[in-house]
Amino acid sequence: MPAQKTQAIVIRAFPLRESHKIITFYTPDFGKVKVVAYGVKSPKSKLSGSLELLNHGMLLFNYRENRDLQSLTGFDLIEGYDGIRADFTRITYGCYLAELVDAIASEGDANPEIFELLRRTYYFLADTDDVPLLVRVFEIKFLDLGGYAPQLSQCANCGSIVTPAPHQNSQHPTSVILFSIRHGGLLCEKCQHRDTSAFAIAPGSCELLKTLRKSDYNKLNRIRASERNHRELKLVLGSFIQYHTERNLKSLKFIESVL
Ligand SMILES: [Zn+2]
Repeated sequence: MPAQKTQAIVIRAFPLRESHKIITFYTPDFGKVKVVAYGVKSPKSKLSGSLELLNHGMLLFNYRENRDLQSLTGFDLIEGYDGIRADFTRITYGCYLAELVDAIASEGDANPEIFELLRRTYYFLADTDDVPLLVRVFEIKFLDLGGYAPQLSQCANCGSIVTPAPHQNSQHPTSVILFSIRHGGLLCEKCQHRDTSAFAIAPGSCELLKTLRKSDYNKLNRIRASERNHRELKLVLGSFIQYHTERNLKSLKFIESVL
């Protein structure tokens, strides 16, 4: 059992009997790592308090391949994200991101870019002006890194360039672009019959999504999103994520009901 040391973020913490916890970490080198933290709920435990959800630290564990639960030997806190914990909206979205990573990432599947994305997202989540917009940036980048990148320029079915089309069901005709969850991106006019449940979104929302895909968090406060952009991006990305995770994320439901 070689001893391992890696950076890690706590993405799930689950009580086990009275005094233990099952903790899932996301790490750059091992993907998800699940451990049992024995006696951690006792105030005497030296790990007490450091294994809270979202905490970033240096994880020490004995690694065994093909084992569901690894053996924890230590966790030294690097960042506790007090700025996120101090605000109900920020902590709620922070938990959603952790649940999302837990739902899509797999154990032993190293992806340092996903770790870095999560770490940077939490860093900026502590004081960004537009929390939902930051979360949308995370979602689109996370989908790209996870191999689910939505097709936002060409038709996801035939590959032709997509141009906005008049909205047929609207009393006040406006141009829209069709996004198909099933096909994984935009549909051109010729292919729109292939998915009658495709979402009609404003061309501006699609452009914004392309911008967010390339944006860095430190420039995010310069980007303005309308209420319609927010609504449409949340719908498209949320549905896309649900389609690929095949789960109803608990924290997403919570966000829907309280925020
Ligand atoms: Zn097409």
